[in-house]
Amino acid sequence: MQGTILYGARDVRFEERPDPTIVEPTDAILRISAACVCGSDLWPYRGIEPVTQPTPMGHEYVGIVEEIGSEVRHIQPGQFVVGSFWASDNTCPICQAGYQSRCVDARPMGAEGAQAGWLRVPLADGTLVATPDLPPDDLIPSLLAASDVLGTGWFGAAAAAVGPGKTVAVVGDGAVGLCAVLAARQMGAERIIAMSRHEDRQKLALEFGATDIVTERGDEGVARIKDMTAGLGAHSVVEAVGTQESMMQAIRSTRAGGHVGFVGVTYGVELSAMDLFWSTVHLHGGPAPVRRYLPELIDLIWNRKINPGKVFDLTLPLEQVAEGYRAMDERRAIKTLLLP
Ligand SMILES: [Zn+2]
Repeated sequence: MQGTILYGARDVRFEERPDPTIVEPTDAILRISAACVCGSDLWPYRGIEPVTQPTPMGHEYVGIVEEIGSEVRHIQPGQFVVGSFWASDNTCPICQAGYQSRCVDARPMGAEGAQAGWLRVPLADGTLVATPDLPPDDLIPSLLAASDVLGTGWFGAAAAAVGPGKTVAVVGDGAVGLCAVLAARQMGAERIIAMSRHEDRQKLALEFGATDIVTERGDEGVARIKDMTAGLGAHSVVEAVGTQESMMQAIRSTRAGGHVGFVGVTYGVELSAMDLFWSTVHLHGGPAPVRRYLPELIDLIWNRKINPGKVFDLTLPLEQVAEGYRAMDERRAIKTLLLP
């Protein structure tokens, strides 16, 4: 088959790779229907996360089950399935508590490389969720969004304790931030402030349910949020970037007693314990347990209650994956959808 390999900074290639096969009896093999490029793929692409050897890329996927191992009980060949970026058994105490991304047997799907025609999924019964039927083509982008960015935005909003009557601020206008806006809307937030300085992203944030846009960043961004909340700060803040500035902006935009949900993969962020001490906020985040939310998200998408697939503003054939990375790196695209 053909798949995506990252060789080094800004050197991504679509080339021949071995066909995936059943390695463990709990595996499934998918024929990929759609995959995409993640904001977190840009860290190694930009060389911020060093690439030491040719690395398969891609951890977001939907597809048709082609083959299952002898111990797979619930997933069947022919089903259309959505999986998360961590494979999980969904049975251990951590999974049972809803933290499948930290399953005692968690396997990173990025290691398998989903930006390809075919994909091996370990722990298929615990990882994959089948749709009620084969989806119409127009639902595929939204189902693919559920695999990572929607599930991650959803967890960010849940971790920030978003709920009816609350004022929510979202730091970051990438696909995850935009999906956090959508999640906050679904969770009944009263006011949703999207922090964005890009016009196309502001538009989508408003469409997803944002009530206000703040273009300022850093100290000025914090001051704007305070101005809008009688000097108190937001009840709930979702951090969806992962830089020092965005993390501090999120913490400082949150009122005492409020909640920060941080879901941007952090690089080089250092927090002062004294700042945390005086912040008096709840901090919860990490790799989103997307599997926890998949049944609910698939249901909302299937019944056309939400349309998170709108975060994809560039669609390319898989073999043009390198252009998909370039477009996101240069901020010409929010998120690239890849079709085999
Ligand atoms: Zn588990």
